[in-house]
Amino acid sequence: MKDFWSETGKIKRLLDKRSGLILFLDFDGTLSPITSVPQNAIIYSDVLEILKKLVVIPNCRVIIVSGRSLLDVKRKVGIKSVDYCGNHGLEWEIDGRHFTAPVKLETEKIENVKKIIFALAQKFPETVFEDKGLTFALHYRALDSKRVERLRKVFEIEMEYYINTFLISVIYGKMVFDIKPRVRWDKGDFCSYYLKNALTTVERKRILTIFLGDDKTDEDAFAKLVDAITIKVGYRSNSRAKYFLRSQHETKGLLQWFLNCLMIG
Ligand SMILES: [Mg+2]
Repeated sequence: MKDFWSETGKIKRLLDKRSGLILFLDFDGTLSPITSVPQNAIIYSDVLEILKKLVVIPNCRVIIVSGRSLLDVKRKVGIKSVDYCGNHGLEWEIDGRHFTAPVKLETEKIENVKKIIFALAQKFPETVFEDKGLTFALHYRALDSKRVERLRKVFEIEMEYYINTFLISVIYGKMVFDIKPRVRWDKGDFCSYYLKNALTTVERKRILTIFLGDDKTDEDAFAKLVDAITIKVGYRSNSRAKYFLRSQHETKGLLQWFLNCLMIG
């Protein structure tokens, strides 16, 4: 992985050869700093202003790809001309039309898992249970660090059967256990689908694709988008991304840098 800022010359030359830009952006920990209560996460107004300027540039598209529910992430960002994808790639909206991933979901069994996790959250009152429809999450950002191991143990015991029977998969993210139905569909599949279906063949050839994200689920997109400029927020030696930013504080600068490239040339 290379520091994004040490490679801007090269990336600028790549961008100059293309006629447009597609920006896939994760939300929590990427556009928005991680907060102790997930509901409180916000996107700062200066970052929002840059996004608003980017989406009005012809041949520039912005797609937010989040683990939050589609409705939640749409509300958090609130820009109409942006496309949104929620639930780690399982549902999305393109030009106002709603889609879900082409996979079969065992909804009833998943409901049982949901009840178990909900009950577990009551035993650890500092945790936050989040029902996102197709997936759910147990956040422990406010849990005392000494209790995290205990929570993890209990959680693993409770989930063992459902994991072993291939019903669900668990993503151990930043201060969160994300529980997804076990299907072959992730953020990377969504991005590939988007590139194939939302763009014309000509557009696809001419456009430079960027994916910016900070956590485990973004690694699927880093791995699958082989032709894209993939950027990890926060350095991690075994990441599949090609570049990294040192921290979330650098996101604003990165978006501004792309905006300047497109506006000034
Ligand atoms: Mg994130």
